[in-house]
Amino acid sequence: NTKTDYEFIGKNEVLPIYIPREKFSHKGTYGHSLIIGGSYGKVGAVILASKSCLYSGSGLVTAYVPKCGCLPLQTSLPEAMVLTDENEDILSGISYDMVPTVVGIGMGMEKKEATSKAFSDFLNKYKGNLVVDADALNLLSENKKLLKKLPARSILTPHPKELERLIGPWKDDFEKLEKTKKFSEQYDCVLVIKGAHTIVVYDGVGYVNSTGNPGMATAGSGDVLAGMITGLVAQGYEPLQASVFGVYLHGKAADIAIEKCGYQSLVATKIVEHFGEAFMSLL
Ligand code: AMP
Ligand code: MG
Repeated sequence: NTKTDYEFIGKNEVLPIYIPREKFSHKGTYGHSLIIGGSYGKVGAVILASKSCLYSGSGLVTAYVPKCGCLPLQTSLPEAMVLTDENEDILSGISYDMVPTVVGIGMGMEKKEATSKAFSDFLNKYKGNLVVDADALNLLSENKKLLKKLPARSILTPHPKELERLIGPWKDDFEKLEKTKKFSEQYDCVLVIKGAHTIVVYDGVGYVNSTGNPGMATAGSGDVLAGMITGLVAQGYEPLQASVFGVYLHGKAADIAIEKCGYQSLVATKIVEHFGEAFMSLL
């Protein structure tokens, strides 16, 4: 089957996905997200993803970082809990005794040999909900055998370069979509192809997002998206729904933000700070 079906992602399409909060709920109702990543000089990526995850509604968020990430995380994001690796500067082993509802992995992670081994060991053990971003995607590309170890319906969030490393080059957008669709079927994963028009690909369908703007071409905006999708999965959204809803809200927040700060001054933190207004725009 070479025919790709397309669906539009707009307000009318995401409204039925939205799950309102229950009065008699507690933080356990909304899941415990584990954000794994970071390395010396790139702890900010984990801070952004964890903050985004909390601001998306995840009940609890724990960040798993190299030791050097503990202090910055605890001071900049008091709502998050922190677990640390044995290594000071990079991830060298991933072990924890909490039970995550979902794991988001890869932001600011680097691809050192010890980290590559830690990621492979993690994939051998972990079979739950998973969002894979940044250098965790690049590690998958470098060692394609790891792809078979991904839990069912993992969510992958590549930007164009990361996508090319995963599926190889394409000659036009049509071929890009076809290759992505095949990849998603082969490894049973949801692919979020990021760009000016982000497309979520799953089960032979491409869901084309309608929100977002060029102000989002800025450091950390992808970390924020990965954190948001992780936070939505934590709250019980299915992987496809979390991805579709996540790209819509992420773009919507940025669209609301530029009304005040303009394209050039939009930074990733500003996108997160407008999540609330993005959610409220649905009501
Ligand atoms: P990353 O490259 O991982 O930081 O991800 C960049 C994020 O910003 C993705 O969610 C993209 O969809 C979004 N983005 C980047 N450039 C644009 C653009 N020109 N228009 C709309 N969204 C964009
Ligand atoms: Mg990125």
